[in-house]
Amino acid sequence: MSRIVYVNGDYLPEADAKISVFDRGFLMADAVYEVTSVIDGKILAFDGHIERLQRSLGELDMKAPCSTEDLLDIHRELIKRNNVVEGLVYLQVTRGVADRDFAYPDAEPSLVLFTQSKNVVNAPMAKTGMKVISIPDIRWGRRDIKTVQLLAPSMGKMAAKAAGCDDAWLVEDGVVTEGTSNNAYIVTQEGTIVTRDLGHHILSGITRAAVLRFAAEAQIKIEERPFTIEEAKQAKEAFVTSATTFVGPVVEIDGVPIGDGKVGDIARRLREIYIEESLKTAI
Ligand code: PMP
Repeated sequence: MSRIVYVNGDYLPEADAKISVFDRGFLMADAVYEVTSVIDGKILAFDGHIERLQRSLGELDMKAPCSTEDLLDIHRELIKRNNVVEGLVYLQVTRGVADRDFAYPDAEPSLVLFTQSKNVVNAPMAKTGMKVISIPDIRWGRRDIKTVQLLAPSMGKMAAKAAGCDDAWLVEDGVVTEGTSNNAYIVTQEGTIVTRDLGHHILSGITRAAVLRFAAEAQIKIEERPFTIEEAKQAKEAFVTSATTFVGPVVEIDGVPIGDGKVGDIARRLREIYIEESLKTAI
């Protein structure tokens, strides 16, 4: 069955959905996006993702395509029309259609949303943990803006795949920034969670904010600071967070097992807490 997707005001079968070749999202990656998870047909952390979308739009002087209420209606309508019980909703706003020019045109933004059904709760990776490699962070300097320029992370995932691993952690100036599509964490031998401090160098993860809040509530010590791959290799545990991975345990970095090489207790616990608590506020 073909999906129903949303394009600029219309709900259409995916084969009929069209975007202009002059759309700046297509020509210049002049576009921002958000991905939210769906469990039991409900959207997780909707407000956080929409707040970050508004921030991304603001940083790029891009117009909002519609109100937050309209965005929620579109999400819900797509989930309903596609019978999504578990999976994700992808949302993209581009600056719109205009003659090609580096200067921003005064165009109307394009808005595209689609769904993907998949198991997010019982993802196999949550049980097995993932293996990561470290690679240089070759991305641009404004990673806090969630743009669709995703070639560097794609190259990173391919490098990981070629090395027989699941993902890559990105290293800049000798320290880890984040994963290709997630925030990166270690748990020290003393049980402190360490993750990179916020700034232009990483994306401020919506899942990161929630997980750090739940960790603090569980009396776990948190340090937001840079850490090296060497420190990570000595850690008790490692994990990543993202909207669709939730908390994803990391069991190996550059061929070195982390801790006992199995999914760590803190990662497992935080994953459970995150899913349970997020469902309470899902809409
Ligand atoms: N960093 C990067 C580079 C990402 O692509 C993502 C996923 N969008 C994240 C972090 C995690 O962000 P979130 O928890 O909001 O999905």
